[in-house]
Amino acid sequence: MLLDQTVVSGIGNIYADEALWAARLHPETPADTLSTRTVNRVLAEVRAVLEKALVEGGTSFDEQYVNVNGEAGYFAHSLNAYGRTGQPCARCGTPIVRVSFMNRSSHFCPRCQRPL
Ligand SMILES: [Zn+2]
Repeated sequence: MLLDQTVVSGIGNIYADEALWAARLHPETPADTLSTRTVNRVLAEVRAVLEKALVEGGTSFDEQYVNVNGEAGYFAHSLNAYGRTGQPCARCGTPIVRVSFMNRSSHFCPRCQRPL
């Protein structure tokens, strides 16, 4: 649902992966099974991740995305899940895994983010 642009717009793969990692929620958890409390926790993490990314100038992987001064963002250095397949989870050390669904891929920690 985080990636469904008809529900909430502007959260891409990177920030969805990061917010779910922070909220310790498995990426394939159906949204309609979540309690109001959990939904609020996820939304708070989305907000926190986006704010942190803004402060760090966004997430740049190449020279295509730079600011007016030609500088790349630094958020790529702060990623905990996205693009970190096989690297240890910053919280528990378990290797991050990547799964594909809905024509996208999702990165998560199989230990911290267990299916409900
Ligand atoms: Zn973990």
